[in-house]
Amino acid sequence: MTSQTIPPKQHDPLGVDRGRRLCPRCGESDGVDEHSPLWPKDWRCNDCGFALEPGGDFVRLAPELDEVDDGFALDGFAQLAAIEDGHFWFTTRNALIAWLIRRYAPNAHRVLEIGCGTGFTMYALRDALPRATITASELHSRGLAYAHKRHPAGVEFVQMDARHIYLKSALDLIGAFDVLEHIADDHRVIEQINQALKPGGILIATVPQHPWLWSSADDLAHHQRRYRRGELAAKLRDRGLRVVYQTSFAALVLPLLAAVRLRGRQSPHDSRSLEMAETEARPLPIVNAALTSVFMVEHTIRRIGMPLPFGGSQVVVATKATGSLPNKTQHAVAGACLLPYKASHG
Ligand SMILES: [Zn+2]
Repeated sequence: MTSQTIPPKQHDPLGVDRGRRLCPRCGESDGVDEHSPLWPKDWRCNDCGFALEPGGDFVRLAPELDEVDDGFALDGFAQLAAIEDGHFWFTTRNALIAWLIRRYAPNAHRVLEIGCGTGFTMYALRDALPRATITASELHSRGLAYAHKRHPAGVEFVQMDARHIYLKSALDLIGAFDVLEHIADDHRVIEQINQALKPGGILIATVPQHPWLWSSADDLAHHQRRYRRGELAAKLRDRGLRVVYQTSFAALVLPLLAAVRLRGRQSPHDSRSLEMAETEARPLPIVNAALTSVFMVEHTIRRIGMPLPFGGSQVVVATKATGSLPNKTQHAVAGACLLPYKASHG
């Protein structure tokens, strides 16, 4: 009787072939080596000879859009960078992101953040995945300059349009934190995310929730929309992703948020509404400390599994279908205890 030896599996958390990058000009693909950058600065297409435009500390995939003031005010990066550290909203959102990564993608190796802005959410990714190979992308190199200052080593930076990611089955985890609402064609971005993920790969996305909360703060932020409850999950399913978890963020402060926003809407363009948007951006230290505590209470409620159907933002975790693998295996390769998604939470 002979016994067949099964060779040990190589370190490849999702058990799939390496991903591909696609030439922005001709669409031909080449393989991404395990530890190489997604886009080496000297990369050149073997088929058509296309070369990337260098941008100092990063490469540019969409140089023609870099300085276009479309989905984000270009002078907004300086304002963001000045307020993020210690701000209740950004610090507690980072705690949520890190928790979701540890829960749903603890073994992610290849990670891409879309719309990294000034690099503040990158702290959460690096904290949760200290050994991962992380790439941060942003349409505007002005944002990348701040992000690079915050992360001078250990992160690859790419100037990129999220509607043209030019990757196929290359990533274990994609993060898009308050990005999709800035882009008119969010369907296109979701398609690109699905293509760029490895089978079993994970998307974590946050977006503003409830169109009735629309105010001058959304205008100032260049938002295209606030998402209806369950809208993002439906759009992800439409494009072939499987939603494994969703919840609201800024749930306990919703009445306060609604009061501030609705008051501001009565006079959407006067100095008072601008002042309100400014107050949200720069709360008094005592208010900031109180709100941080409220958000941490909310986080505890979330962690024990209580549904939070309403809130200023929604968070969705979705996975790319693994094709022939049965559901049980899909859960295993995603690397964590995936909760079954309940439509009633939408
Ligand atoms: Zn080419």
